[in-house]
Amino acid sequence: MSDKSNVLTLGAIQELPLVDIHVHLPGTISPRTAWDLGVRNGFISIDNEHGGVSWRNGPNSLQLNAPFEHYSNIFKQPIILDNGPVNLEYNIDYQSFKSFDHIMATVQGHRHPPGGIQNESDLEFVLKRYMHDCIEQKVFYTELQQNIRIAYTIYSGLDTQEARLKLYSFLKRQIIEFAKHDIILRFIHCFNKTQASLSDSTTYNRAVEASEWLKEAHDAQPGVFVGIESAGHEKDESGWPAHLKAGYEAVRDIGLGCEAHGGEATGVEHMMDVIRMLPITRLAHGFQVIEDEKSIFEVMDRDVTLVMAPLINMKLGACLHTIADKDGHLIPKSKSHGGVKSYIDELYQHPFFKLIREYKGIKIALSSDNPYMAGRLIKESIIALAGLSSEYIFPDGTEPLRSDELVQCCLSGIDAAFCDDEIKQMYKSKLSDWIKKYRY
Ligand SMILES: [Zn+2]
Repeated sequence: MSDKSNVLTLGAIQELPLVDIHVHLPGTISPRTAWDLGVRNGFISIDNEHGGVSWRNGPNSLQLNAPFEHYSNIFKQPIILDNGPVNLEYNIDYQSFKSFDHIMATVQGHRHPPGGIQNESDLEFVLKRYMHDCIEQKVFYTELQQNIRIAYTIYSGLDTQEARLKLYSFLKRQIIEFAKHDIILRFIHCFNKTQASLSDSTTYNRAVEASEWLKEAHDAQPGVFVGIESAGHEKDESGWPAHLKAGYEAVRDIGLGCEAHGGEATGVEHMMDVIRMLPITRLAHGFQVIEDEKSIFEVMDRDVTLVMAPLINMKLGACLHTIADKDGHLIPKSKSHGGVKSYIDELYQHPFFKLIREYKGIKIALSSDNPYMAGRLIKESIIALAGLSSEYIFPDGTEPLRSDELVQCCLSGIDAAFCDDEIKQMYKSKLSDWIKKYRY
């Protein structure tokens, strides 16, 4: 057990300057923001009659192949109104990636337009809300993932290249707005690598197209889009790394950052394919590396940072492949070595803890992933990992996140960030002030 000086307090966490390098922009849309977007775009109508307030589905329907019949189906029902909705919650089924993805696809705007984000002002509205969250949480540096394709939705009157260029300038202005509050914002182009994207172009072509757009963005507005990301369910073969390789290598050759998702669903084998095949310096999640110790050492040798978000893993049903030892305890073991899928029941059992404690030198950063869609804001995530949330219990004999481990995660996060060294140094000096103040 740690000595007392390593114990995190709520007060200390509240003051900690943060780095959040893995945030999906649509995941920053809180249920309340999604509701407001629905009202703005006529998916939801509010009636003020007979002294009462009620709502109904608005006149503007979703597209026929959108995952929901009505936009309001993204929320748990019934929705109670007072001066606004009082009990809004996304209708995400327990441990269901699919239901999470359906909500994401409806709100983000470009997958089945019309969705929640339809014009520049909607996107600005979403970013403003996120900026307030960053101010409150003392976020110093954040990288938001957004598909450049949103440009075709919000600037539908322009030709494709003009629309993309206009998006880069718009996002540059947002970076300036954030900087006024001492928040450094950067963007990552993230595309869905699977068939869920409903694109008629192959994954190979979309990855190459991504590299071309990133080159274009880099030339037009340097420092706005700083890297590439691909997302989507690991099970779908169309998104496997062989199809992504050419696009990723082109992005690396421009000098921009490369990150991919892996090791959160189908097992360590897929995760290692991603790491070996793509020129990535960061892998999102990657907790299934615990299934195979050799792979843990390989991740360290290859100097890949695992960008973890344990809270969203728990919500969407984090699983490991395991075998039972002679006492009946489940031990992580890859599928190829006989492991069978089993869910992780409690946060304290998340492999994050074992990895950071037993493998010195492993680089793990913490992120929010989708702060409002199944995930939590970065600060809330840290509070939960530190055992300071009543929602997540750490039983006797287990140890929540300590201050030295948290500092290590913060350093791994900024070191892996796709930004200049000057920004990294600024963060490190803020972090060292925090360490001194709280005598950690
Ligand atoms: Zn992610």
